[in-house]
Amino acid sequence: MTTQGFKQAPHKLLVIPGPIEVSDEVLYANAHPSMSHVSPEFVPVFGDCIRMTRDVVFSAEGQPFLISGSGTLGWDQVAANLIEPGEDVLVLHSGYFGDSFAECIEAYGGKATQVKAEIGAAVSQSEIEKALKAKNYKVVTFTHVDTSTGVLSDAKAIVETVRRVAPDALVVMDAVCSVASEEILMDEWDLDVILTASQKGLGTPPGLSILIASKRAIQKFESRKTPVTSYYASWKKWLPIMKAYESGSAAYFATPPVNLIYAYHASLSQITKSKPSLPERFKLHKEVSQRIKGVAADLGIKQVPTDPAYAANGMTALYFPTGVSAADIIGPLNQKGIVIAGGLHTAIKDKYFRIGHMGVTVVDAERGDVDKLVTSLQDVLKAALTK
Ligand SMILES: *Cc1c(COP(=O)(O)O)cnc(C)c1O
Repeated sequence: MTTQGFKQAPHKLLVIPGPIEVSDEVLYANAHPSMSHVSPEFVPVFGDCIRMTRDVVFSAEGQPFLISGSGTLGWDQVAANLIEPGEDVLVLHSGYFGDSFAECIEAYGGKATQVKAEIGAAVSQSEIEKALKAKNYKVVTFTHVDTSTGVLSDAKAIVETVRRVAPDALVVMDAVCSVASEEILMDEWDLDVILTASQKGLGTPPGLSILIASKRAIQKFESRKTPVTSYYASWKKWLPIMKAYESGSAAYFATPPVNLIYAYHASLSQITKSKPSLPERFKLHKEVSQRIKGVAADLGIKQVPTDPAYAANGMTALYFPTGVSAADIIGPLNQKGIVIAGGLHTAIKDKYFRIGHMGVTVVDAERGDVDKLVTSLQDVLKAALTK
């Protein structure tokens, strides 16, 4: 891939849990000359994006939807297409994003019941089983990595439990903060919906809602009895568009974000067709995650996830040590040219901070991002602890 010498301007290192750093190749692709969305040059680019989206989650048959919007639009798609008004949905809550997904479902007339884990934990399989035995649910949702806590849910185990106790329920995974940084085997694990966005592990500027639906999910959608409850998010409108582009012809419902699709194509090509390979990428995310979590552990700083086995590999959430506040950590790191994030979970908002480590920052060692982050984090934490 050529960037014709393009290099992005010097800037602070963005290591929040999305948006993340974007490679020069991806940014250059975003600067593609303006193109007609129905031109013969653009159609195969969109088609490739649909195919490579499947590859990232190891799905042979899932139906991708690439729609202008952010990750949030994925919730709207699920609520408007897969849930009919009055139907029950079980929302497994491992942080802030469970509440938001539930709120979205209710906005479309679905009935959301939440099972909430303690802060720093995921809902246990026995609690899921208990909830599924108490009521019939059309859909079960969970957050793969809850970006407010850094908790990684066990996707494979959740699907197994649902299939065993409530075989007809659809399993929907909010993977906005896990696609391309955590291993996801959509077909093998038998997930029904994976929803994500362009700006986190997928290393593309914000603006694209990315969703993959299983055959079972599409069948449930096609057999719904009441009309879809959204206009823009309706799969009735988008399914023919996705099928047309994938088969090599253009179709129109609403204009796709043409330049962003070029950028997404560049990023997907790096992720699925270049080195390091996808499995190597997951391994690198694990190694870098261990390194960053190790810096904190060595200084006695506690992670938000209560069990290290359920901590995400693409981000780290750390409690401020006693007597230390955001001003001692976030500001000084910013002065060293590093942008991290504060807390998000309402119950502990001012008590912790978050670092994102996904995408090029992790896989392209030549950039030196991780070394810079680790050294600066050590310096700033030590200074805060001895102030
Ligand atoms: C970021 C995020 C969202 C929301 O995505 P937007 O692109 O901000 O709309 C939803 N769920 C999770 C887990 C996220 O990390």
